[in-house]
Amino acid sequence: MKRLLHKGLSVLMAAVMLATAFTAVPFVANADDHVHTLLHREKKIPTKDENGHIEYWYCADCDSYFLDQYGINEISQEKTVLLYYTFAEENGKVTLTKYNGNDETLIVPDTVPENYPDESLRGKTVTAIGDEAFMGRNLKTVTIPDSYTHIGIRAFSSCTVTTVTIGKGLEHLGRECFTWCPYLEKIIIYSTNDNFEIDEPQNFCYQSKNAIVYGYCGSMVEMMTTYYGIPF
Ligand SMILES: [Zn+2]
Repeated sequence: MKRLLHKGLSVLMAAVMLATAFTAVPFVANADDHVHTLLHREKKIPTKDENGHIEYWYCADCDSYFLDQYGINEISQEKTVLLYYTFAEENGKVTLTKYNGNDETLIVPDTVPENYPDESLRGKTVTAIGDEAFMGRNLKTVTIPDSYTHIGIRAFSSCTVTTVTIGKGLEHLGRECFTWCPYLEKIIIYSTNDNFEIDEPQNFCYQSKNAIVYGYCGSMVEMMTTYYGIPF
């Protein structure tokens, strides 16, 4: 029944497109008047060991993938894949750009995993978390290894996170990094780096009312936080 409905809608859409296709733009249609039979795939969240995918519609007859139930916005199969983590390299530095998983306890990798699709990145040291990389994710505890020097803008904003532990290498915390995290209690920063800085410290953990920063006494972390009134 669902298939029939999709078929019906596809025919209807094709008719509408045909009717509006007499402009200079050539109407793109299959020569054999193929009508897609679209199967709906719900979004699947990736795990550490298995990739997920976005919500999409698939036509097995012509092996095509679409973002909509009418078969209008086609995408490549590659673009439907959701990786647990994504990474990018710029000027020789590797950044963790996005986390798509749903695990409550997370130890962020310090190197790009060996099963990562882009072979050229595998095994490389990761030194940064990208802007909004963990934003809105369902998390409880996150541990960020010593290799990380930079954490991007709103990287952990609007999360369910309670405890974040950051290693010795940290130099830079991006603007609004830990805002809108109502359950956030501990931000433990082991950095003793004299270059440690927080971008817009006054907004650092805005609307994360229970957040307290922990760090070494006499460290730049202590100086920055206490100077700007962030609980330490
Ligand atoms: Zn098709």
